[in-house]
Amino acid sequence: MSAPLLAVNGLKKHFAVRGSRRGGAAGFVRAVDGVSFEIARGETLSLVGESGCGKSTVGRAVLRLSDITAGEILLDGQRIDDLSASEFRPLRRRMQVVFQDPFSSLNPRLRIKDTLAEPIRNFGLATSGADLRKAIAELLDTVRLPHDAMDRFPHEFSGGQRQRIGIARALAAKPDLIICDEAVSALDVSVKAQIVNLLQDLQRELGLALLFISHDLAIVEHMTHRVAVMYLGKIVETARKREIFASPKHPYTFALLSAVPVPEPGNTRTRIVLRGDVPSPINPPQGCRFNTRCPYAFDRCRAEEPQLRPLGEAQWAACHLHDLPAAENPLR
Ligand code: SF4
Repeated sequence: MSAPLLAVNGLKKHFAVRGSRRGGAAGFVRAVDGVSFEIARGETLSLVGESGCGKSTVGRAVLRLSDITAGEILLDGQRIDDLSASEFRPLRRRMQVVFQDPFSSLNPRLRIKDTLAEPIRNFGLATSGADLRKAIAELLDTVRLPHDAMDRFPHEFSGGQRQRIGIARALAAKPDLIICDEAVSALDVSVKAQIVNLLQDLQRELGLALLFISHDLAIVEHMTHRVAVMYLGKIVETARKREIFASPKHPYTFALLSAVPVPEPGNTRTRIVLRGDVPSPINPPQGCRFNTRCPYAFDRCRAEEPQLRPLGEAQWAACHLHDLPAAENPLR
């Protein structure tokens, strides 16, 4: 079997918290605390969870925008987290990113053609000025923008058009993987749908893999193949889309899903309203990290941390409920 396009094994990213005037570390923010997943070519994996759960930190670590504390990251079977900057540079082309805010992620002083030309030049993907202009025109076609867009500045476009330009910039490097970090969160509902449809089309046309980072399960449902749910720096459930949405096995997944509107009138989901805020990742709760907000927590949850384990075909969850007799498990 060939190696997955991206493999992340036991990834940890801890940030020191300065606590005294002398600058000594008072503790660590355990933003990502042992996360593992794989993405195949042409596949979409969605990393979901509330703000502060560590999902964007995972994306930044994969892109090597920050150093990692522990674990390993492999692209096509090759470890990339321990490469020097010059060793990593040719591989960087293969992983691109689309950020949340299309207003701040484009340089306001650059015409669109210059924004798109930058990665093409940086990675040596055009050999002449004519080649470069042709590549830019093709990118605009790909993201369904007119060719006259190339001579305009970012402020002349709407939010959705700017996000199309952000996607074109990511595509300019001819990547295998695009990390979409809350890439549609700042957009209006109808524009969101257009950008999601565009990403799906591009994935089919170009065989791209996507790591889709989002807090919005309603959007994820339309476009993903698999989902990994994060809570306080850990993956608490992962499964194919069908299993996650039809039969979640972790109370946190269940709570997130219960807030997603059901499209068919008459169908309802039992609503679980999460109490309180996400606890501090400096001092996460003992036992199961979700026990302070879980409606089903029992004594064992406060003493022992549950591990991810298989609970059906291609579905894993970390929850002690699944050791109870079926009649006592509300998620069976
Ligand atoms: Fe809730 Fe306990 Fe399961 Fe954690 S292990 S999700 S606290 S039932």
